[in-house]
Amino acid sequence: MWIAIAAVLAIAAAATTWAVAGRDDPPAGSSAATPTSTVSEPPVEERMLAGAGAILKTRAAAVLTGRLSQYLQYVDPANKKLRERDQQVFANLRKLGLSRLSYQVDANWAPEVQAQHGPSARAVRVLMLIQIAGIDAAPRATGLGYTFAERDGRWLLVDDDDLAAEADLKAYREPWDLGAIEVARRPGVLVVVPAGERGNAERLARESQAAIPIVRSTTRRVPAGILVIAMADNRSMDPEWRTGGHPAAAVAAHNFAPANPEASEFKVVGSRVVINPGQRTRSGRLLLAHEFTHAAMGQLGNSAPTWLVEGFAMYVENRLAAQNGYEQELAAERRTLLREKISALVVLPIDGVFHGDYDEDSYGVSWIIVEYLVTKYGQAAVNSLYADLARGPDAPAVREQVLRKHLKSSETALVAALKKYDGPN
Ligand SMILES: [Zn+2]
Repeated sequence: MWIAIAAVLAIAAAATTWAVAGRDDPPAGSSAATPTSTVSEPPVEERMLAGAGAILKTRAAAVLTGRLSQYLQYVDPANKKLRERDQQVFANLRKLGLSRLSYQVDANWAPEVQAQHGPSARAVRVLMLIQIAGIDAAPRATGLGYTFAERDGRWLLVDDDDLAAEADLKAYREPWDLGAIEVARRPGVLVVVPAGERGNAERLARESQAAIPIVRSTTRRVPAGILVIAMADNRSMDPEWRTGGHPAAAVAAHNFAPANPEASEFKVVGSRVVINPGQRTRSGRLLLAHEFTHAAMGQLGNSAPTWLVEGFAMYVENRLAAQNGYEQELAAERRTLLREKISALVVLPIDGVFHGDYDEDSYGVSWIIVEYLVTKYGQAAVNSLYADLARGPDAPAVREQVLRKHLKSSETALVAALKKYDGPN
């Protein structure tokens, strides 16, 4: 069984309801057959874990200090392809500028015999914990599958894809695993692109900087920084990251870290923005402002109704659009939505409509609702409403209660008031 952490990440990021960290317990009864040990030696699995631990520690230190030879020291000299891949990953990680890096064998998964690499070879699931300097507030976890084998009394890393064939490790890859990268760095932003796309990295860094001020002033939250991933390879985007029945143009994907030493539970420690490869040269400040808003609000919890999560992001995006000369277009869109959609509103948009069939109107309607709330109650009140709803639980009765607490209004009264709304001025 190989349920990669990527799968967990995907579920959380796909749901704009921000499903957090609830992680199933590791599969029970997963003890692998342990070969008979000799009298003088501990069992092979025990020796493998000790060897793997030492190798991983050496490799993490090598990346942080920039010593390629040390990084490759315990990589099978016979596996040229693996050494090439590793060399590339090393160069990529150096470009990112890491403040912390560590690896731990995931003890929740039984090592798997990989006889093709010799009788001692075992594939293990490894958690890579990586923190980008000036960007990530904490290290985030990502999953690897490494095979270790004993050769002439010495443990080596002999392969990195023996577990990939089993399930969906192929579905999502970290940008540093997708060939040579380039980066563009600005205060609070790091953009990662494939080699040869520096121009796009610089453009996205500028667009990010144009988006950040309004995100900060509206959300009133200041994350340390944000990683923007704009790769050409489709594996940089999990296929599960969909919205309204189509792949998202971009996603604010949650960053997870183990919540306990055994890494049996995970918690959200931040977000990164992943741009759909097909959109990477077209995406600009409006899309970035939308995703940065999700990233900023994401840590408040996962229980806010989708109309508020998406409406808030649309509100920030459209405020930036207004600042950039799109006031007339927005006014026209608002008029249409008020006339055709808000007038027909019976209840606030239910979470399900955002994830079902393609329904662009849900986003527009949600924008109008949030704009109305900010106009009537002020930004601070809307932000506290968001924080309270995000904390959960997401039961209808609780939502209604929180709405009444912050707005002194029921959902029914709110819908009625919306029908009288005619714009922010
Ligand atoms: Zn969104």
